[in-house]
Amino acid sequence: MVARMSSLFLRTLRDDPADAELPSHRLLVRAGYIRRVAPGIYSWLPLGKRMLDNVGAVVREEMERIGGQEVLFPALLPREYYETSRRWYDYGDALFRLQDRKGSDYLLGPTHEELFTLMVKGEYSSYRDYPLILFQIQTKYRDEARPRAGLLRGREFVMKDSYSFDTSDEGLAAAYQLHRSAYERIFRRLGLDYRIAFATSGAMGGSASEEFLAPAEYGEDTFVQCANCDYTANTEAVEIAAPEKQDPAEHPASRVLDTPDTPTIDTLVAVIKDHMPDREWIGADTLKNVVLKVRAPGGDWELLVIGVPGDRDVDLKRVSGQLEPTEVDVADPAILAAHPELTVGYIGPQRLAEWGIRYLVDPIVVPGSAWVTGANEKDKHAAYVVRGRDFEPAGELGAVEIRNGDRCARCGGELSIARGIEIGHIFQLGRKYADVFDLDAQGPDGEPLRITMGSYGVGVSRAVSAVAEQTLDESGLCWPAEIAPYDVHIVPVGRGDEQLTAATTLAEQFDAAGSRVILDDRDASAGEKFADADLIGVPTIVVVGKALKDGNVEVKDRKSGERRTVALDTVVAELTA
Ligand code: ATP
Ligand code: MG
Repeated sequence: MVARMSSLFLRTLRDDPADAELPSHRLLVRAGYIRRVAPGIYSWLPLGKRMLDNVGAVVREEMERIGGQEVLFPALLPREYYETSRRWYDYGDALFRLQDRKGSDYLLGPTHEELFTLMVKGEYSSYRDYPLILFQIQTKYRDEARPRAGLLRGREFVMKDSYSFDTSDEGLAAAYQLHRSAYERIFRRLGLDYRIAFATSGAMGGSASEEFLAPAEYGEDTFVQCANCDYTANTEAVEIAAPEKQDPAEHPASRVLDTPDTPTIDTLVAVIKDHMPDREWIGADTLKNVVLKVRAPGGDWELLVIGVPGDRDVDLKRVSGQLEPTEVDVADPAILAAHPELTVGYIGPQRLAEWGIRYLVDPIVVPGSAWVTGANEKDKHAAYVVRGRDFEPAGELGAVEIRNGDRCARCGGELSIARGIEIGHIFQLGRKYADVFDLDAQGPDGEPLRITMGSYGVGVSRAVSAVAEQTLDESGLCWPAEIAPYDVHIVPVGRGDEQLTAATTLAEQFDAAGSRVILDDRDASAGEKFADADLIGVPTIVVVGKALKDGNVEVKDRKSGERRTVALDTVVAELTA
């Protein structure tokens, strides 16, 4: 079927939508792919629906290639299963909760681990039934705090979620690798430039979780890449090289300095220089002790102090990522009031253990290193306070904000920070949900084997935006061939019948040859038609214009902008070859 623009349900817009911050969002709205219904909630118009289906088809094919079987769960779910897994509580404000007419609690599924686990438990019983990969392409709901950027962060969005079920850790590792390779094929086929980044630090078990990130200027995720080796990690999971350990005995005895009126690190450094002019002092010689509060699930808020060099800030997201599911926040006056022993502004690590306050340091604060830090007394700091001599932290936690130029923990190479869009996530869940729902298989010896699971997501609707974001140019969208809504966009230029007739015949020939064709048969100016063709972003544009009288058409490559003249008689054969 040739899509005729004269009747296609499509009205392109000349102006940018007021709420659109990102180029992909602006263009998807202007080109008539999506329309906003409410924050983070969008309708798909015919062009957009084709894109969504095309992306979904690629995902489905690659999931089936690794043996995945497609199922479909409802989005509307009763509370009880999420009560059992505790996610009814742990998911927090992002969970859409609602009630039916009888007052029973329901939710709109953010992901479906519970349901998949229960479905498998209902059907399978023997170790011989496994391994198993199930997937669905389905609408998910999350009441995101900041729905933004159109499809990138929706409150209703389409996700492919899959789950692997195995009787052994080796089986899980194999299912994880299968997904990893399927995702590589998916994102290559979508025409996306992507990186695979560690989402949990190597220290927590290697490749237990990785994210697929599409580098993009406006991406919400930050990740770190090594210029020397292939190490790539989410900034929350990255590990950076720490300096060499030092010998505590090398440092002078610690001494207390009067440091009134030193509200910033710079003013402090200036005063330190006055006291001890024998050497250079910089912000990185000071130890800043940042007071946070943490709460384990079901527990109470407690203080946590983290020591970082004074010229660096604590990255709360990085800390939270590592302490999850424990919640982390900056300490508030109420919790500080319960600890009068802390002299805010002059906190040092020397006596924290004695006061029963948990103290961790960033690994940059290496054993044996000496610092200028608070003396736990108003208007006083202490110099040459040495880890392992004057204080001992309870442990290390990568907490500093990562900087360009930090060193790779693997090879010492230079790290750089980039932004990206998370388009997929693969995760070795292990036995968490199998434990919650007692998912066992009867083993060869008749003994029960606990099933181990993986969970894997692709942002299908988000991928539409991510591809748009990576490929668009100043004239509009610019789709990669595999997922474009059409293969060929035919533009008859003049308003006369001759060009329109030739263009219509050509469109039918393309259609017969198996191409997906859109024909601009509107009564519109050439300028309007060209602008819309560029805006819509079909990869090949065939212009039926003046050259027709010589039996030629013009073929324009949307991406490169390259134009060439091709004989009308051979253009179908050439472009469909
Ligand atoms: P994010 O960190 O971006 O909030 P997430 O880590 O919470 O995502 P997962 O639970 O891993 O997301 O979901 C799997 C995939 O679903 C993500 O990799 C992403 O591509 C997609 N996704 C998640 N949340 C959204 C959303 N609000 N809108 C669109 N796609 C989303
Ligand atoms: Mg994720």
